[in-house]
Amino acid sequence: MLDLMYDSPKVKTIAGAKADWELVIGLEVHAQISSNAKLFSGASTRFGAEPNSNVAFVDAAMPGMLPVINEYCIEQAVRTGLGLKAQINLVSAFDRKNYFYPDLPQGYQISQLYQPIVGEGEVLVELGDGTARLVRIERIHMEQDAGKSIHDMDPNMSFVDLNRTGVALMEIVSRPDIRGPEEAAAFVTKLRQILRYLGTCDGNMQNGSMRADVNVSICQPGQYEKYMESQDFSHLGTRCEIKNMNSMRFIQQAIDVEARRQIAIVEAGGEVHQETRLYDPVKGETRSMRSKEEAHDYRYFPDPDLLPLEIEQGWVDDISASLPELPDAKKARFINDFKLTDYDASVLTADVDSAGYYEAVAQGRDGKLAANWVINELFGRLKKEDHDITNSPVSPAQLGGIVDLISSEAISGKIAKELFEIVFNEGGDPAEIVEKRGMKQVTDTGAIEAAVDQIIAANPSQVEKARANPKLAGWFVGQVMKATGGKANPKAVNAIVKARLGL
Ligand code: ADP
Ligand code: MG
Repeated sequence: MLDLMYDSPKVKTIAGAKADWELVIGLEVHAQISSNAKLFSGASTRFGAEPNSNVAFVDAAMPGMLPVINEYCIEQAVRTGLGLKAQINLVSAFDRKNYFYPDLPQGYQISQLYQPIVGEGEVLVELGDGTARLVRIERIHMEQDAGKSIHDMDPNMSFVDLNRTGVALMEIVSRPDIRGPEEAAAFVTKLRQILRYLGTCDGNMQNGSMRADVNVSICQPGQYEKYMESQDFSHLGTRCEIKNMNSMRFIQQAIDVEARRQIAIVEAGGEVHQETRLYDPVKGETRSMRSKEEAHDYRYFPDPDLLPLEIEQGWVDDISASLPELPDAKKARFINDFKLTDYDASVLTADVDSAGYYEAVAQGRDGKLAANWVINELFGRLKKEDHDITNSPVSPAQLGGIVDLISSEAISGKIAKELFEIVFNEGGDPAEIVEKRGMKQVTDTGAIEAAVDQIIAANPSQVEKARANPKLAGWFVGQVMKATGGKANPKAVNAIVKARLGL
């Protein structure tokens, strides 16, 4: 059972600080909704397309064009909310956020400020030491993404690519329940895992389909508990928001340097000012981007082109009924059904494709043995070849075949590795390969006895040594295995060597 933590982590003195400080972190994660078409147009969302080839008139903000909501994007947002055990709002509405975006020709972003589609939810974040933190989700709203300005293609000009303009995003806002850099990374990892299981976001951080704004503040020990009791933000320090982080490593580094910066200011008698900052991974520092703007700076108002969005409870129930098994449930089931350790179950369920692969191998077989082969042999080998599980050259049926041959003692562990290598490189049916290439384990005791006797006869001095020190019997086992090309059953060899040496 996990030990749920609601209080501050044990106070760690931050290097260079005079007093003890704690970190308080809240994340706003932008996740691109997996959908073939954009939020308000039929244009394609395919990544890597020719610049400006996926742009409908409404994306380009041509006069007189009207947005039409994409029902599938709504379904995806609802599915995400349900996956985060969140309140689904049957009535939500779109607002215009006015702002000069060079790559969003409308001159405003359509978002949901006042009535988001999803309300309060939660994410269970395991911290790797048997403890976990329940991070509360405040809301999820849908909004349009902007395009991309390109400044490095020409010395005198900037270019704009509107392919991403109008693509549907979900902004997932957490409560400030995250208490350190590792927790922040663990939260994003868990959120990404859930979205990938749900199929609502591909979680590809490199392509920008998931990025996070990280809010950081510092406070003295005891203050966070007061905030939790009252939900009154005045107990917490002033936060700064670090924009657009798209790597787990940078998220952690940025939180660390930002916390140190704030501590240095406060300890020198200064004050932290609320602002938006950027992290520079090369210099290892955060820099001011702009002072924090307030909602009224954006002159938000309900978008007159779009009716309030009303959905039916029955539709939500249908989506709910079709949710896939989510990571926590799958992990618990793997531990229970396949007798896996917590660690193995975490590794195997980290990714929905790996979990599916493993389950196909383990079904009707020894779960632990199957886990060893998937984690140690297959994952290791795939990594070396830069493959991932979805294009594994060894299918679950083939790996299952190898596991069967081990379980029935038809082949030894050592031969199994050779067999795996053959199947990985050349394909084929494992049982047939074993048959054709004479890889079957020798369990015939007569043959093993003969090999043992031969080696004993040829090595009288080794025999003496082994009789004096039984640990050295392993040398004989090794010799027999070598002589039989690894095909002898090691258990049988062990027993016969011991018997013949009189140990
Ligand atoms: P805004 O609308 O100005 O972006 P929000 O109140 O929506 O502000 O908060 C944005 C994010 O900042 C949320 O993830 C929230 O948890 C986080 N946050 C709020 N206060 C703090 C604080 N004192 N320290 C750290 N994070 C905070
Ligand atoms: Mg915000």
